[in-house]
Amino acid sequence: MARIRRGAGVDDARPALVWFRHDLRLADNPALLAAIATGRPVLPVHVMEPPGTQGLAPGAAARWWLHGSLAALGQDLAAHGAPLLLLEGRAADVLPDLARRTGAASIHWNRCYEPAAIARDTALKASLRAMGLDVSSHNAALLFEPWIIRTGQDQPFKVFSPFWRACLAQGEPLAPLPAPRRINGFRDAPAGSTLADLRLLPVAPDWAAGLREAWSPGERAARARLARFLEDGLAGYAELRDRPDLPGSSRLSPHLHFGEIGPRQVWHAVRGWTLATGEEAGAEAFLRELGWREFSHHLLHQFPELPERSFRPEFDQFPWAADEALLIAWQRGRTGYPLVDAGMRELWRTGWMHNRVRMIAASFLVKHLLQPWLAGAAWFMDTLVDADLANNSAGWQWVAGSGADAAPYFRVFNPVLQGERFDPDGNYVRRFVPELAALPASHIHKPWTAPPSMLAECGIRLGHHYPAPIVPLEAGRQRALSAYRSMTRESA
Ligand SMILES: Cc1cc2nc3c(=O)[nH]c(=O)nc-3n(C[C@H](O)[C@H](O)[C@H](O)COP(=O)(O)OP(=O)(O)OC[C@H]3O[C@@H](n4cnc5c(N)ncnc54)[C@H](O)[C@@H]3O)c2cc1C
Repeated sequence: MARIRRGAGVDDARPALVWFRHDLRLADNPALLAAIATGRPVLPVHVMEPPGTQGLAPGAAARWWLHGSLAALGQDLAAHGAPLLLLEGRAADVLPDLARRTGAASIHWNRCYEPAAIARDTALKASLRAMGLDVSSHNAALLFEPWIIRTGQDQPFKVFSPFWRACLAQGEPLAPLPAPRRINGFRDAPAGSTLADLRLLPVAPDWAAGLREAWSPGERAARARLARFLEDGLAGYAELRDRPDLPGSSRLSPHLHFGEIGPRQVWHAVRGWTLATGEEAGAEAFLRELGWREFSHHLLHQFPELPERSFRPEFDQFPWAADEALLIAWQRGRTGYPLVDAGMRELWRTGWMHNRVRMIAASFLVKHLLQPWLAGAAWFMDTLVDADLANNSAGWQWVAGSGADAAPYFRVFNPVLQGERFDPDGNYVRRFVPELAALPASHIHKPWTAPPSMLAECGIRLGHHYPAPIVPLEAGRQRALSAYRSMTRESA
């Protein structure tokens, strides 16, 4: 049958645009379904904003992930009948231009919650509506919209536990939406960029070998990871989630960040698992972590300065002692504390770090080394494949003691005791700090206490093969506590 062309007087040929951002999936994608429901041909588009766009440009590891995720989404969309159009430039310029060139009747997207994205999207919504387009935005990234969960006094929550109770009191989140079977794609799309044009992958040097080994981006891989976790991980999650030496957590964070799977899908899959197995503990503990993700987004929404400023204003007076050499030693995993170094090297090699080790490595930087949390947060944003403005800012502020519902400042993680407790055989350290691999578990978290004969037998010369501790633990802790006291005196 001949296709009806735009201009032939039949309005139905005008496309519905779907702007893909942090929702790189077909299932449970309300914006995509809304576009299909218009009955118009659908034109899916992704816009790569210029590097350096304030608050919107992904870090290096996230760019690597985005390449794989867009490749997977592009294939799936093409197989469904609607190839993905890739465009480069500021969305504020590129999308109105696309709407004009295609005669689009509507545009649909799922909401992003970063402050810069909210500002961009609000302005765009107004300008696209002024051009006569129908604009619809949807929630695909969170269980509950951040403005819905409020205290009895109609205030935003600042403490996690009551926040999470209020979320649970909302009842079950909406059931996930099915993926479309076929999409009636728009045939007259202008030419876009190729994925290679976006230059998301590192070259010269190609440092991404460890990432390729560890991860498969894309919706299908996300669902496979969730299925594997339900089968092998969830039952033991409450017990093993703090063990970096074991595969105890889901590793869904980059998939969730890029929206290759949505939290509602995860929630309902976990609920289904509980019904099928009759087991509760692992599921409850796991859903609570999804709750921390919600809480972080909620905090960012009520306090948009969260990525740049301490939530607690008294921390504006904190006497940080910024020191490039200390920061670099930490970034490279050369602090002389094996658990911290293993975490930082896991991050460098795989683009991910275990949650407990994130807390310990971050605490070491801001407390033992007195470096500003902003410096650590920036490094994480550049090196994590799951780099997420809300989770990362909230995580760093929690550790630094400057955040809402943060750890009390005097809680200074001791990397030796934490290592002995959560990596009891030292296997995590052995994997990422191979120069210490021959040490027995009794000394692997504190090699400086090993007798010289043991070090010699293991082929280790401290300060040569592996650094001596960069700061003595107790002295570092005392220095941090006294910095905190001086801050509280200043702000009293
Ligand atoms: C200093 C610091 C920085 C962090 N930066 C990030 C970041 O940039 N991106 C990110 O996604 N997470 C961040 N986190 C939170 C947490 O470390 C990771 O989400 C978690 O390690 C991901 O592993 P997983 O998927 O196996 O988690 P699981 O334990 O399997 O948890 C399931 C999901 O819940 C969410 N989640 C779990 N723990 C937290 C938490 N504490 N806060 C918020 N959400 C959570 C994640 O989406 C995760 O995928 C940070 C934590 C700290 C202490």
